[in-house]
Amino acid sequence: MTVDFKRLALPGVQRLQPYQGGKPIEELERELGISGAIKLASNENPLGLSSVARKAIEASLVDGARYPDGNGFYLKQKLAERLSVSTNQITLGNGSNDVLELISRGFLGSEHNAIFSEHAFVVYQLAITAQNAKAVVVPALNWGHDLKAMAAAADDNTRLMFIANPNNPTGTWVSLADIEDLLKALSRQVLVVIDEAYFEYVDKPEYGSALSLLEKFPNLVITRTFSKAYGLASLRVGYSVSHPDVADILNRVRQPFNINSLALAAALAVLDDQDYLNHSIEINRSGYSQLVAGFDELGLDYIPSAGNFISVHIPGDVQAIYQSLLQLGVIVRPIGLYGMPNHLRVSIGLPEENQRFLVALEQLLSERGGS
Ligand SMILES: *Cc1c(COP(=O)(O)O)cnc(C)c1O
Repeated sequence: MTVDFKRLALPGVQRLQPYQGGKPIEELERELGISGAIKLASNENPLGLSSVARKAIEASLVDGARYPDGNGFYLKQKLAERLSVSTNQITLGNGSNDVLELISRGFLGSEHNAIFSEHAFVVYQLAITAQNAKAVVVPALNWGHDLKAMAAAADDNTRLMFIANPNNPTGTWVSLADIEDLLKALSRQVLVVIDEAYFEYVDKPEYGSALSLLEKFPNLVITRTFSKAYGLASLRVGYSVSHPDVADILNRVRQPFNINSLALAAALAVLDDQDYLNHSIEINRSGYSQLVAGFDELGLDYIPSAGNFISVHIPGDVQAIYQSLLQLGVIVRPIGLYGMPNHLRVSIGLPEENQRFLVALEQLLSERGGS
């Protein structure tokens, strides 16, 4: 007798679709038999690993046969100092993705719902659905989060709200004042997660980290990552800052050794590599100008972004352009999955990578007969 294992899975898990990441360079090169492909598809840091982090990783290998420090003592201590919070407010995760899941695991059951915006980071949907909780998706406003509508969507069963600020893949951001208004309008039993994965890049005067609101609104949870501006995407380190009781719950559901020693060492070291961070921000700023100037020249609409990526509107068959870019060794990200089938998201790369992408795009659009 055959067993239908898929039907034995938990109801929420049955509804999950596995996360689709950007295509790895190696995979594309293998498939096409080419070399020298570039990847502008996963919002990775184009500078590569910081040499300071590399040295720290190498030094940490000596203890590779031992379990890591399950409490991440030194990293939490340094973060607590930098952020002027207590170590018992910090929860470390295997990437901030891990923390987002811990929040769902700790606070969401099938009787609850969680709110996020249309076009929001797709991990929220996954984390909510895995708990068999209800995902309440609020329509976006000009591609961004409609915080008033999100507040109005809350009811007695709402336990979580996820807000990426800036949001991926739209790059849109909300002001600190608007976040404060949202918090004033919401019941304190709704945990509001402000996902600040791209916080370091933002240069908008009205923008501010929600960390400054945490004392006033203990239902806030701020998440950050080392994957983007700090360039440690493969090492997997992120964290949240919250009320100590929330952190206590998250620490109960996390794996005992969720951050490995190499990642702990790298994160600790890169926090002191101010040059790397400054360079990341600088190259992102100039790359943004380069790309939007290129889009303007090509007559393409794009969504102004505060992150390290831009979503650009592609007239006509977007999937065909994506595929043709792959043929030219340029990997970007189609975002139909995010309800944006007419856009491609391009991560801001090194100047020569941005240039190669723009030249390839221009070629493809003109071959197609004008845009
Ligand atoms: C990249 C990203 C993350 C971070 O992922 P990690 O798991 O920390 O690598 C979190 N939120 C958003 C919106 C992102 O784009």
